[in-house]
Amino acid sequence: MIKPSFVRVIIDRAIHRELDYSVPESLAERVAIGSRVRVPFRDKSGLATVVATLERSEATGIRAIEAIVGEAPVLSEQLLELARWIGAYYCCPIEAVMRSLLPQVIRRAEVSWKKQLFVQPGRKIESEPDWQRELAKLQKRAPRQAELLEAIARLETPVRAADLLRKTSLDNQTLRALVKRGLAELREESVARDPHGDEQFMPTSNLILNSEQALALEEIGQALDAPESARPILLHGVTGSGKTEIYLQAIRATLERGRTAIVLVPEISLTPQTVERFKGRFAEGPDTVAVLHSHLSEGERHDEWHKIHSGRAQIAIGPRSAVFAPLKNLGLIVVDEEHENTYKQEEAPRYHARDVAVVRAKIEKCVVVLGSATPSLESYHNATTGKYRLATLSQRIDEKQMPLMRVVDLRQERRKQKSISILSDKLRAAMADRLEKREQTILFLNRRGFSTSLLCSDCGEASRCPNCSVSLTFHRHVARLSCHLCGHTAAVPKKCPACGKDALIYAGFGTEKVESTVAQIFPKAVVRRMDADSMTRKQAYRETLLSFRSGKIDILVGTQMIAKGLHFPNVTLVGIINADLALHLPDFRAGERTFQLLTQVAGRAGRGETPGEVFVQTYTPFSPSIQFARHHDFAGYFQQELEFRERCDF
Ligand code: ADP
Ligand code: ZN
Repeated sequence: MIKPSFVRVIIDRAIHRELDYSVPESLAERVAIGSRVRVPFRDKSGLATVVATLERSEATGIRAIEAIVGEAPVLSEQLLELARWIGAYYCCPIEAVMRSLLPQVIRRAEVSWKKQLFVQPGRKIESEPDWQRELAKLQKRAPRQAELLEAIARLETPVRAADLLRKTSLDNQTLRALVKRGLAELREESVARDPHGDEQFMPTSNLILNSEQALALEEIGQALDAPESARPILLHGVTGSGKTEIYLQAIRATLERGRTAIVLVPEISLTPQTVERFKGRFAEGPDTVAVLHSHLSEGERHDEWHKIHSGRAQIAIGPRSAVFAPLKNLGLIVVDEEHENTYKQEEAPRYHARDVAVVRAKIEKCVVVLGSATPSLESYHNATTGKYRLATLSQRIDEKQMPLMRVVDLRQERRKQKSISILSDKLRAAMADRLEKREQTILFLNRRGFSTSLLCSDCGEASRCPNCSVSLTFHRHVARLSCHLCGHTAAVPKKCPACGKDALIYAGFGTEKVESTVAQIFPKAVVRRMDADSMTRKQAYRETLLSFRSGKIDILVGTQMIAKGLHFPNVTLVGIINADLALHLPDFRAGERTFQLLTQVAGRAGRGETPGEVFVQTYTPFSPSIQFARHHDFAGYFQQELEFRERCDF
């Protein structure tokens, strides 16, 4: 490798320009494209990324780089190319793209591996007679040291000092004494923090595919063999059709070809179940699968990133930013639930991870698979025009029936019950039936809180957010009002702030109210709620899912959080409390969202032996998205939505 005399860098703090610096002889060997460096800039110094190495530079007033930050280069040339594409396509300065591309903990290189003390026999006890002699000496004077010495002498490999002390119930002082005598040696070693280290994963192996699955996998296999000319593959498979099994086998095929893989999932479906499926299938090493998500500590993020970067991990799984995982020799990118809008980043760069995945695949000459039960209209359109290849799974595994969808007209219910009720008679009866049979129910409502507004029955004023002017939602467990847009919270007023009358009433309902109503109606049932309010503790989500899976919970009430990716064979009933919520969003995609949500939620039912049943409660039973979802008719839905958008010129 020629030693570069100059480098061109992008400085972290935005200045829309790339600058040249000279490289001191002492640093020349370690600097390369993708290195992080510290450079003088104006009268300060700042961090920067090397984007080119040069033999000469035309720039004037060139200054020298001060230091190299971190170990090896952090960005490959392909990722740099991707960064440039994102900057150009989404009209965003490259410095901002870099911030998305590299986690802060990597950019700053301040966090490092965790260091732990390992213990091994000391120099003085190299042979058995040695330590037997020392042991004899210690046994009278210092029996505890003797005990520890014996344990250490029998070690075949160094062990963590902390583990050894715990096992022998001896203390640090005893250990230090042995070290002083030269009978034990301590060494500091870097260890990886493993966010899933305390979990056990049952190894699994490839299942025998059904014919549709086999066809889809073959399609991917062909693409893996000729990645330069491969088109993106859209895997359209109904819920429970075995898409994940195909991802797993496609990744296996990728690894067999000596390449690596990324799996993108919406953050919300990065559940313990998902992690388990991937870790269990690729159990050859504890580090084969790296998991990236927003709940990692800085240290864990550092370690997962470096496991990927160093090649110890061959598979990276995570939400949208995992599309930038620094894998070398990338062979496959899977985008699960490709229609999900959480793939879109809301702040700059406002990229769409699915589109970035397709571009990265082109740059890295690798295969991209987009999977969904309800593909986005864009992707499905690309598949019908031949830009993408389409692979279809039209059946659930083992000919399991698609759930039976029953639409409940809330207008009629209202006439019958004379008040707004949360559960229609039919849904209530179905729930009672499931409780009797010891089967489980999921109730879905896309709205948190207890009451969605606090109204004055006298003057009609509602309590509104001072920032966003939307109605404030009442949360009973914390007894406060909160704005679901900006997070503003307020105390609950006793009297109407507008007219001063004591006439406030609660209106509208959210998951919290559903939970308490259901608990009232079915006092013997175990009811739990799963939404952003009830899942604030890190472990709460996992615990709730585990107890639901093991049957300790009869009825699970929740928001989006329970809509996706979960697989509970004993759930035979799903109730959608109000299907109209998404329909009335002021967005031309509202209908599409409703269709997707209904299909996804309904997909939670009947994944085991007993067929599932879904009740969709709605005031607009004849809206197309509800009708097509009811008949599991994606193609019909796609057709009408396309015509609708063409008419409206979207
Ligand atoms: P999807 O991702 O399409 O919702 P999954 O991959 O989760 O579907 O599959 C649903 C269930 O069927 C899972 O329990 C999975 O293990 C099982 N499964 C998938 N493929 C097969 C197969 N070929 N044979 C037997 N069981 C399968
Ligand atoms: Zn607000």
